[in-house]
Amino acid sequence: MCGRKGPRTSELHFLATHSCAGSATSPRRSLYIRATSHEPRATIAYAAIAARLRLVPLAFPRPRRPPGAPHHARLAIRAAGGSPALDLGTEDRAMATKRSILWFRKGLRVHDNPALVKACDGASAVQPVFVLDPWFVKPERVGANRLRFLLESLEDLDASLRSKGSSLLVLHGDPERVIPAALEAWRCDRLCYEFDTEPYAQKRDAAVNEAAEAIGAEVHVPVAHTLWDVEKLLSKCKNGEPPTAYSSFLKIAHSCGPVPPVAPHVPNVPAMEDHTHGDLVKMLGDVVTGSGVPTLEQLGYPALPIDEGFPARGGETEGLLRLRKMLDRTEYIAEFKKPATNPTDLWAPVLGKGAGGTKPATPFDAAKAKKGNPKEVDAEAFMAPATTALSPYLKFGCVSPRTFWHELRVVLDQTLKGKHSKPPESLEGQLLWREFYYLAAYGTPNYDRMAGNRICRQIPWTWDETRLAAWEEARTGFPWIDACMMQLRKEGWMHHLARHAVACFLTRGDLFVHWEAGAAVFDRELVDADHALNNGNWMWLSCSCFFYQYFRVYGPVSFGKKYDKDGTFIRKYLPALKDMPAKYIYEPWTAPIDVQKKAGCVVGVDYPAPIVDHAVASKECIEKLAAAYKAHKEGTAGNIVAVGKKRKAGE
Ligand SMILES: Cc1cc2nc3c(=O)[nH]c(=O)nc-3n(C[C@H](O)[C@H](O)[C@H](O)COP(=O)(O)OP(=O)(O)OC[C@H]3O[C@@H](n4cnc5c(N)ncnc54)[C@H](O)[C@@H]3O)c2cc1C
Repeated sequence: MCGRKGPRTSELHFLATHSCAGSATSPRRSLYIRATSHEPRATIAYAAIAARLRLVPLAFPRPRRPPGAPHHARLAIRAAGGSPALDLGTEDRAMATKRSILWFRKGLRVHDNPALVKACDGASAVQPVFVLDPWFVKPERVGANRLRFLLESLEDLDASLRSKGSSLLVLHGDPERVIPAALEAWRCDRLCYEFDTEPYAQKRDAAVNEAAEAIGAEVHVPVAHTLWDVEKLLSKCKNGEPPTAYSSFLKIAHSCGPVPPVAPHVPNVPAMEDHTHGDLVKMLGDVVTGSGVPTLEQLGYPALPIDEGFPARGGETEGLLRLRKMLDRTEYIAEFKKPATNPTDLWAPVLGKGAGGTKPATPFDAAKAKKGNPKEVDAEAFMAPATTALSPYLKFGCVSPRTFWHELRVVLDQTLKGKHSKPPESLEGQLLWREFYYLAAYGTPNYDRMAGNRICRQIPWTWDETRLAAWEEARTGFPWIDACMMQLRKEGWMHHLARHAVACFLTRGDLFVHWEAGAAVFDRELVDADHALNNGNWMWLSCSCFFYQYFRVYGPVSFGKKYDKDGTFIRKYLPALKDMPAKYIYEPWTAPIDVQKKAGCVVGVDYPAPIVDHAVASKECIEKLAAAYKAHKEGTAGNIVAVGKKRKAGE
């Protein structure tokens, strides 16, 4: 049976294929049913009828969703026995009460949440749910920093929902089993969740949709993780292939019209008053292995030291606060040029209202800059590095990109009246980079690997485990690179240019290790780890796609020195070097041995000797890249097999 919604009415066409009652050998029959209703939500009632008739799913290929169309349930069921009889009158009456499951995955917020709006629309009860998927909860897949940020975000979401008369139920288990089981057990006829473009999510969601549809539940999947619907962006791409140049992307984005407005505010969420969380969990039996927001330790992770972890709390409340404090800094926004921001800036207090681009290093400086008393400054200041550090909040959807966009636009258009930096370097330009990579990822098969990836140059990288481990464990012997990697390990975050430095060093700059290996480490360690942004930027930095000037290499000594002559950043993250004189801090191996001894840091004993001679290594890398580019141009690159053995997840 397949259902198709007519353009203006809730007309459905069903094709039910079934055998006659009681006879396994009788010929299969097809029954065509056309059902119409003036009630716009009739689709769900018809689906419910199908479920009651014990119709079971039929596999058939899923058509691609037309651009801009909502993600509705598609029905595909066949008769399991008995003669179907429709009693639409009864079902039409049943439509009046909706029971929704609102499934949170990313989009961990109550503002600008179209799935929440839809779940509440005409509903008698809505149960917000988050399913802690064991696939993710593994230290080798998701680092402790990211997981802690997620758990904090879930607690915050629960508090926000409670203020609306509802609450978040966190279930532990496989979402492909948990969500359909919950729909059935809790007698819910509507499932709402935010569209997710990641391959893992796409596969999971297709399976959940299919199961939900078989049960007869209506499924709504609005778009709110990106500025535009990526399907719509993709439909505007020549041959359905996303551009690899930002300027071409901007043309496509502009052709899609303005960024859609944010979803309306939802003041109250009707609770499932007939059941407690305990009841609901019990009804799911052994499909769930636990419930509630656990601690890191309960999930088998070691506790994070008090001074480690992402320096700000996870969740929508903190994310919106930080967004709005940042938006208060109108001068900062006017002057924001990403390449001019300082990757060595430590998190320090910054001023609120109107503050400019130069960040005071300490609360004292902040007070002086404000020419006021420090108490007043304390109230307005907040801790931040050189850029917004909103990436983890965007990654988990604690802050909506459209809220960010529209509130930023008010500052740019109304306060600054157009006098501000412009894309690609501006803040607005950063959100457009995000969108650029989302489109690239969505429209490129095998986006996260070199093999079979249409846009990725074939380069004979190695999987050199010794080099990879030294880079990953912050022991390359280049303090600037190691300090950045230590910041990643401890805080789960790095400034964009620090990411440039370490990614270039691992791949085309010095070590010639496969970008996929570096991306996997980032994917595990970053609080903001994002499939589209991470793999895209790794392709950029390794000159595999998007950027091709492979002869422009970041110096692992000179680059950091340009920003931080004294090496304050290095001293913070590499305490072994804290007493090394500034003259040698970027190249401690050049310090005379008595200087090393006096600083308490002998190279080769207290801190490693450099893993390569940069001058030699970078020259060799450039030669290899030149050869690979030549082969690409001549069409002889073929499918390159990288040298060595690829590390498996968790190794
Ligand atoms: C090798 C490498 C890997 C990266 N991996 C990730 C990742 O997994 N997740 C991630 O969020 N970012 C990633 N980035 C992009 C960028 O470094 C971070 O988004 C940024 O540093 C986050 O800090 P911020 O929020 O202060 O950025 P801001 O400069 O304040 O920018 C605001 C927002 O714009 C978006 N943005 C900024 N720069 C980029 C960019 N180059 N590409 C796409 N979107 C951007 C982010 O969502 C960011 O939060 C990677 C960059 C490199 C070079």
